[in-house]
Amino acid sequence: MEVDSSTRLCCLIGHPVKHSVSPQMHNAAFKELGLNCIYLVFDVLEESLGEAVNGLRSIGVLGFNVTIPHKIKIIKFLDELDDSAKLVKAVNTVIRRDAKLIGYNTDLYGIERVLREVDELNRDLGLIIGAGGAGRASAIALTNLGFSEIIIANRTFERASNLAEQIHELGFSAKPIPLTDLPRYASSANLIINATPLGMAPSLISETPLKRDHIRRNSIVLDLVYNPLRTRLLIEAERAGACTISGLKVLVAQGAEAFKLWTGIDPPIDVMYSAALKALRGEKI
Ligand code: NAP
Repeated sequence: MEVDSSTRLCCLIGHPVKHSVSPQMHNAAFKELGLNCIYLVFDVLEESLGEAVNGLRSIGVLGFNVTIPHKIKIIKFLDELDDSAKLVKAVNTVIRRDAKLIGYNTDLYGIERVLREVDELNRDLGLIIGAGGAGRASAIALTNLGFSEIIIANRTFERASNLAEQIHELGFSAKPIPLTDLPRYASSANLIINATPLGMAPSLISETPLKRDHIRRNSIVLDLVYNPLRTRLLIEAERAGACTISGLKVLVAQGAEAFKLWTGIDPPIDVMYSAALKALRGEKI
């Protein structure tokens, strides 16, 4: 599809954004469906966030994604929040409807969808490492999936505590723990989600929040970090006999939901997955 005067804009704003694979993922889906839309990436500093959001509103953007570090700060520049964003208290997707900007959290959808695809998921004990935006989305996803007990481990204990309290208020059992207690709880968890950047390229690539000795055989380990595809945590989990899931699946699932919110069309997930995979491997699409 040629870019012309009718081309509609979708984009990502964040800082830094240079290594995002979202343009390849969304543009591949636009191309496959023959939609006259383009997805671009804009590096926006915190002091320019309000201006950038109002600019996108004025030019009639179809919708946009928001990433680190603006997922919370953007809320004050939006007109409405969907329930997903209210629950997670963070926004990663915005749609423009009748000149109003509405914030959603499709990370929540993506995590839940990927976990629903797991055969016979044991929902007794779920362990989440991290209590930032992705940790909160994971915790809400586990309540939607009906987990009996949710353990939240975080470097800053107070944030784990606050999240556990929110989960309690929703009527679920949740316990905050410091990172030092992680090995003890991990060995009995049926599901472990890493929602920290530990293991992420380039600077944290050699890190893992857990080693194989603390991971239960036949448990499920989802690492939200997707670069590299096989993180150190996933390698440890494989060695422990656990079933591993890459964060790339969540990236594609949350992206597909955003695509549907913007266009009203179910996107070709396989096309999006393969474009994101190629982009991560540095291959031409
Ligand atoms: P965030 O809101 O900034 O939260 C970061 C979390 O990681 C906090 O809990 C923080 O602990 C913890 N953390 C940061 N550095 C740490 C370290 N060196 N050691 C231990 N804990 C550390 O970020 P986020 O949006 O939740 O994202 C977290 C990760 O998930 C990122 O790697 C992101 O790329 C990934 N993610 C992936 C997807 C996907 O689609 N696959 C979607 C969303 C996020 P404190 O509270 O102590 O600071």
